[in-house]
Amino acid sequence: MTQETTEIRPKKLFIKTYGCQMNVYDSDRMADALAPHGYEPTPVMDDADLVVLNTCHIREKASEKVFSELGRLAELRAEGRNFMVGVAGCVAQAEGEEIARRAKGRVDMVFGPQSYHRLPDLIARAERGEMVLETEFPPEDKFEHLPPAQKQVIRGRGLTAFLTVQEGCDKFCSFCVVPYTRGAETSRPVAQVLDEARRLADAGVREITLLGQNVNAYHGLDATGRAVGLGELCAQLAEIEGLARIRYTTSHPSDMSDELIAAHASNDKLMPYLHLPVQSGSDRILAAMNRRHTRAEYMALIARIKAARPDMALSGDFIVGFPGETDADFEETMSIVREVGYASAYTFKYSIRPGTPGATMGDQVPEDVKTARLAQLNDLVTAQMRGFGKSCVGRTLDVLLEKPGRMPGQLGGRSPYLQAVHIEAPESLIGTVQKVLIVAAGNNSIEGKIVTHAERNPASVIESQALPA
Ligand code: SAM
Ligand code: SF4
Repeated sequence: MTQETTEIRPKKLFIKTYGCQMNVYDSDRMADALAPHGYEPTPVMDDADLVVLNTCHIREKASEKVFSELGRLAELRAEGRNFMVGVAGCVAQAEGEEIARRAKGRVDMVFGPQSYHRLPDLIARAERGEMVLETEFPPEDKFEHLPPAQKQVIRGRGLTAFLTVQEGCDKFCSFCVVPYTRGAETSRPVAQVLDEARRLADAGVREITLLGQNVNAYHGLDATGRAVGLGELCAQLAEIEGLARIRYTTSHPSDMSDELIAAHASNDKLMPYLHLPVQSGSDRILAAMNRRHTRAEYMALIARIKAARPDMALSGDFIVGFPGETDADFEETMSIVREVGYASAYTFKYSIRPGTPGATMGDQVPEDVKTARLAQLNDLVTAQMRGFGKSCVGRTLDVLLEKPGRMPGQLGGRSPYLQAVHIEAPESLIGTVQKVLIVAAGNNSIEGKIVTHAERNPASVIESQALPA
């Protein structure tokens, strides 16, 4: 009897990822989908048999970046390099037809975020000479069809991992393309999330960050068909052996439920660091942005969160120069930043996103005004970030040691507040959580030294020394 075997020729895959953590996660899942078909990731674009641009559409110039990259790739092909080109992600979803038309002959596949599980099939179609354009939202659940990553692949990606639990958004903030590119809000079933988390922990992952465009709106179904909120999901994840830390991002203020706030008080594995974008400090602008909350409601929410978890550090997103924003509105943004005191923040100039309500609003703010406001806001948030780092000096923080540091004998890790921490420590401690006394704070990281058990509990040392031999 002869046994049939299909020999798979190894091929190289290069994925260029733009944008948010969700795209980072998606790029890994595309690599996982192609691994059984003989594709191995390469960090070198020139070595690739398949180049995928995983694009982001959040801010302007996104599609221009894609076209200029496609031009570069076309030059490589003209020089005789033979590889296939795919455009994925939110630009593909929003402007697929335009890309297929304008980049004819330079691109083989254009596909949106909901089609990644179909990638092997899309490649087969492109290999038969078809120009593939796949931007429908398929009826099947892509997560059900995406193969899990191999243990050694997960391990190679590091001790921290992203895990998408929720996709899409129904909020329709007037500046944002997400509801159009990622579609309606959906949550993955609880069992699917727990399975993936268990596999990650099994491969040695110690910290997971749950992802979603609107992650705190999570309402995945459990085995009985009951909708489970993010707080309860985190409680179930905390039971997983080996998993030391849980984070989640990005949250919308109006979905911060009592249950989730309470979880921050009761779940030790849930880290005290919350990305809770407010976008603006002006009620007039918040209303025009369709944010569904006022400044006072946001401040009251923060008070409730801090009552549950007093050491909670906050991070935020801010847009300056939304249509109609006056100097007085902008001053309200500066004042909310001062009032809250952020541990970190992401600041953006408003950019018109075609198809969103903001794009057609009158009273667009001139570019030079946006630039000046952004510089002013950046000065403030940078000072706050540094101040937060300095406030940690002298404190003992739990640090997850993740990898060798830049200097010999040094390790790099993360504090509960997501700060990069450098310490002198042996490599054998990678993967452990250590008590670290913070001794210095730089611009982008803090430094510390491991506190030994004896230093932590001097009384216990004296007691044990006093014990009879
Ligand atoms: N879901 C999150 C929330 O509700 O705040 C935000 C997700 S969005 C992918 C990330 C950030 O990009 C937003 O918080 C916003 O600050 C920024 N952003 C989105 N659209 C923008 C636009 N048109 N111009 C400038 N910044 C924008
Ligand atoms: Fe975009 Fe976030 Fe608003 Fe949804 S909630 S529309 S993702 S900014």
